[in-house]
Amino acid sequence: MHPILNLKNATKQFTTPDGHIITALNNVSLIVEQNEFVTLLGPSGCGKTTLLRAISGFEDLETGSITIDGALVTNLPAHKRPVNTVFQSYALFPHLNVARNVAYSLEILGMPKADITNKVGSMLELVGLEGFGDRRINQLSGGQQQRVALARSLVAQPKILLLDEPLSALDKNLRHKMQQELKTLQEEIGIAFVFVTHDQEEALTMSDRIVVLNEGEIQQLGSPEDLYRRPKSEFVARFIGEGNLLDGKVVDVFGDRARISLPSGTEIVLSQSNLIARSDVKLLVRPEDVLVGQVGIPKEVLSFNGIVDHIFFVGTDYQLIVKVDGYPTLKALVRSTGETRSHVPAAGDTVCLSISIDSLHAIPSVDHN
Ligand code: ADP
Ligand code: MG
Repeated sequence: MHPILNLKNATKQFTTPDGHIITALNNVSLIVEQNEFVTLLGPSGCGKTTLLRAISGFEDLETGSITIDGALVTNLPAHKRPVNTVFQSYALFPHLNVARNVAYSLEILGMPKADITNKVGSMLELVGLEGFGDRRINQLSGGQQQRVALARSLVAQPKILLLDEPLSALDKNLRHKMQQELKTLQEEIGIAFVFVTHDQEEALTMSDRIVVLNEGEIQQLGSPEDLYRRPKSEFVARFIGEGNLLDGKVVDVFGDRARISLPSGTEIVLSQSNLIARSDVKLLVRPEDVLVGQVGIPKEVLSFNGIVDHIFFVGTDYQLIVKVDGYPTLKALVRSTGETRSHVPAAGDTVCLSISIDSLHAIPSVDHN
């Protein structure tokens, strides 16, 4: 693998009109490989746009360095960096037709007309807009405008494409379609995409790796499965996916395993090497791993009886909210299949819940001593 982007210790501060200093990026380091689809995920205001603007050269850093394809670009102006950005607003030129919008950056570079026509043609083909060259921008749907914006950003062959919440303005169905198209396009052209979203589901489905940001700092960086199954903090566990967090205390650690006691007094042993003896932890279990009314699970399990408080039908699953003595209310899922539909529990029913020890992941509590 070949790093296309190497961002080291980037810090960016803004001073508000009333003199407050906002640290939008705090010592952020990130390496992106060629061909990689990396997503910046985090709540509004966490620094996602600032990070993209720093990479593209629209924002100077207080400290840190940026290398793109082996060349230091920290002090290069935006137009000299081999990157391009797709914005949520598309920022298309309404008075130019589709072809001229796509051709714009090549015209500025002074490329011969015939070459431009060729390149624009193949770009429009790539994004599925063959034959749309003469259309006016306001004659296009949201999805088509999005494709024009993509074609315009890709035509100058950037080494990295930056995308700032490009799908946020689209309705859900179109958004899902564009997610798949974008992913396929990225694999086809084989350049790195740094994609911004505040939507965890979008991040999980599209990314090779996800960077979770909060208040200008990287909380965790890893594959979608890593972040979903093995979050390092409560913030990441809560931000990505639905989850149940149970209280636990580490009794002792031995090798790469830890013995943990639950409030009920039950002790379990987890294969995790990052835990500290006598510290508090939260035990994460995802709703799909809380099994309802199942018997005969071969591995060690925790099991408890609870009372169904609410049940929601969401199409693929029934979501159960279950009250259990001595625990927070637990979320469980029952797959909605022909087989299960006839005996889905109802509110008020007593159900037996079981959790395999394997599906528990311990997260260190922040203020352990
Ligand atoms: P995100 O894209 O994740 O929503 P931003 O990168 O836009 O977040 O902003 C990060 C933080 O920096 C926010 O607190 C925001 O208010 C602040 N910020 C961004 N740009 C400026 C600016 N030009 N002047 C002052 N504060 C800014
Ligand atoms: Mg933003």
